[in-house]
Formats: sequence, structure tokens, C-alpha cells
Amino acid sequence: MSVWLVTGFVAQSPDQKVFNKKTQATDIYQICVLLLAIVLLPVLIVNDLGMGDPYFCKYICPQGVLEGALPLSAVNEGIRSALGKLFSWKLVVLISVVILSVLYYRPFCKWICPLGAFYALFNKVSLFGMKVDEHKCVSCGKCAKVCKMDVDVTKTPNSTECIRCGKCISACPTEAVRFQYGFGLLRKTVDENAKIENKTNKNETKEEL
Ligand code: SF4
Ligand code: SF4
Repeated sequence: MSVWLVTGFVAQSPDQKVFNKKTQATDIYQICVLLLAIVLLPVLIVNDLGMGDPYFCKYICPQGVLEGALPLSAVNEGIRSALGKLFSWKLVVLISVVILSVLYYRPFCKWICPLGAFYALFNKVSLFGMKVDEHKCVSCGKCAKVCKMDVDVTKTPNSTECIRCGKCISACPTEAVRFQYGFGLLRKTVDENAKIENKTNKNETKEEL
């Protein structure tokens, strides 16, 4: 059982219409958590042996409370009596995540999890991406409306927020959206660069004439 599963159980149905409000897509919170709790604090604040605390796991991630402290303390009096302020704090975090999950789509994955921020960095160069055929697109907006990560695939097909769920593909009435595999992304970039270069060369030639 994980935070993802619990929050999923609470309110993560793809058909959820009442809650799960649309939010501004951004990686900034995750990047802050990544830099602060995973990189800076463990490097800057160390003990006598030169070791830093795992700040994210210790103070932010509620997974340990959910999978360890809660079930163990429920069956063991000794563990229950040893629970302190840190447990109370992590319990508050866990409850907050569950409540936020009723209102927003996967808040922990979207705003807090540093792993998400790390993976997102590779979206732009991933060999598995999204592609929109602009000749087929009729700008109906259905793809953006259905996207739970608040991505408009027509504007940013390989947004760092995209989780490649494919819902935009199913929602598109003209089959304009599709997955793109392999080195197609790279080829596309090269082709586009070549086109831009050709265009520039033509313009320069016209000007010279
Ligand atoms: S694949 Fe999923 S997350 Fe990515 S743009 Fe489409 S609907 Fe949004
Ligand atoms: S759903 Fe398809 S046709 Fe509509 S805006 Fe998106 S890509 Fe274009």
C-alpha cells in the first residue's frame, strides 16, 4: 500500500468531475523540494561523522507513517508509547495529502515528490513522447480538457508535467494526438532545424538579389 494508492482510493478516479480541480501546471514546488530536502540540507547539515539526515524521508514523505508506524503501533504497545512529535508531524502531512487528494489530482506526485521532478527533467529528451498532427487538429480543446496534469498537448506535447497516460489520445476526435517512440523526436528536431536553416538561407538569397 502506498501514498499513491491511498490517495488514489480517496479521489483519483479519471472520471472525477466534482473535485480534482484544474490547477496551474508547474514543477517549481517539486524542484524546490528536490533541491532543498534531497540535495542542500543533507549536504550542508551533517553530523560528527559527516553524514546528513535523509530530510525528505524523515520530515516530508508520509509513506513510512502509512506503511510502518501506523500498522506497527496498532499492534504493538511498545511502539505506540515510543511515538513522538515526528510521528505527529508526519501524520499531519499524511492527512493533509489525503484531504488535498480529494480536491486535486495526485497532489503528492504533482507538487511534492522529488522523484517526479527528477523524471520530468527527461521528458523533453525522452524516446517515448507525444506528437500532435497539426493538419488533423481542429482546435476543439478536448485533449487539454481531459488532461488531469493540466497539459495542453497541442502547445507543449512533451511538457515536463505529462505522464504519458494517453487520455488526450482517446479524447481526440480526429486522432491528431499519438505517442511517438524511438528517435523520432530527435529526427523531428533535426528536420525542423534543417527547415529553419533552409528558410533562413532562402531569405538571405532573396535579400542578396
Ligand atoms: S498523455 Fe496524459 S498527461 Fe500527457 S498530455 Fe495527454 S492526457 Fe495529459
Ligand atoms: S482533441 Fe485533437 S483535434 Fe481537439 S484540440 Fe486536441 S489535438 Fe486538436
